[in-house]
Amino acid sequence: MSAKPFERVAIIGIGLIGSSLARVLRRDCPDTRIVACARRAETLAAVTRLGIADEVTDDPAAAVKGADLVVLATPLSAYAGIAERIAPAVTKGAIVTDVGSCKAAVIRDLAPLVEAGVRLVPGHPVAGTEHSGPESGFAELFRDRWCILTPGADADPNAVAKVTELWELAGMRVTTMLPDHHDMVLAMTSHLPHLIAYTIVGTATALGDDLKSEVIAFSACGFRDFTRIAASDPIMWRDIFIKNREAVLDILQRFSEDLTALQRAIRYGEADTLEKRFRETRAIRRSVIEAKQA
Ligand code: NAP
Repeated sequence: MSAKPFERVAIIGIGLIGSSLARVLRRDCPDTRIVACARRAETLAAVTRLGIADEVTDDPAAAVKGADLVVLATPLSAYAGIAERIAPAVTKGAIVTDVGSCKAAVIRDLAPLVEAGVRLVPGHPVAGTEHSGPESGFAELFRDRWCILTPGADADPNAVAKVTELWELAGMRVTTMLPDHHDMVLAMTSHLPHLIAYTIVGTATALGDDLKSEVIAFSACGFRDFTRIAASDPIMWRDIFIKNREAVLDILQRFSEDLTALQRAIRYGEADTLEKRFRETRAIRRSVIEAKQA
């Protein structure tokens, strides 16, 4: 990619993901002008202090003026309002992409932008940590992870190619999927595990004080890993479960049936059933390691 793949990039929402992308652009495309948008003065002050944007503003419409690339990186619940606000200001023909963790609902929320004549290429860099805000970002966040693009059938191939190049610059492997398929895959690989972690940690929180302090003391037995996942951003995860409701409920139904089957095996002492299942899951772990996703 050239040092100036885009003249002016507006990043709306400059937290973990938005600021990590800004850092990639700063590192690899020093001639590209970066405009960062957030709501709070503290966030904008932090971005200025970190030197990861040329301009900062709390007005999304002002941010997108003259931008040839707009990246939405706010929580999902803000998308519809932002789309309405920026639609009259965005340059016709500009590329608009996003980083949201679910896609079908996002595409519906961004309809006003498509009507305004932008080239929409929805995306999801599947990389993250449990931290939030611009200070928690880092350029290497995306390295060797997957980015899933979900362009519509009528998307401009040049726009898809440019967004692909952007994420490849960040070190990602890029693939495309249909939005509904993306949402089902992520419901299994990311959303259900988070729901389970929130549930387990919630169960521990409801225990009596004595038991709770021992759970924390002996957390290294497995509970600790769930606490890390359950420390993820509450707003982001609230939005994911609301926006990806159908796929999550579908996967959760299958999970509940499998859990009931294991519960039954324990109740009736079906050792072979348990051992068989645990051997199968061990094999999955090996394939995750082989795919370099461990
Ligand atoms: P984050 O660190 O909490 O940052 C969110 C940013 O959005 C902040 O700069 C916030 O600004 C801004 N914002 C919130 N509402 C806004 C509004 N109405 N107008 C303008 N700016 C607004 O969040 P994140 O972890 O980067 O997540 C952002 C997106 O990335 C989400 O859609 C999420 O689904 C997706 N994603 C996250 C991860 C992950 O692991 N974190 C991974 C892949 C994709 P203020 O500080 O001013 O509120």
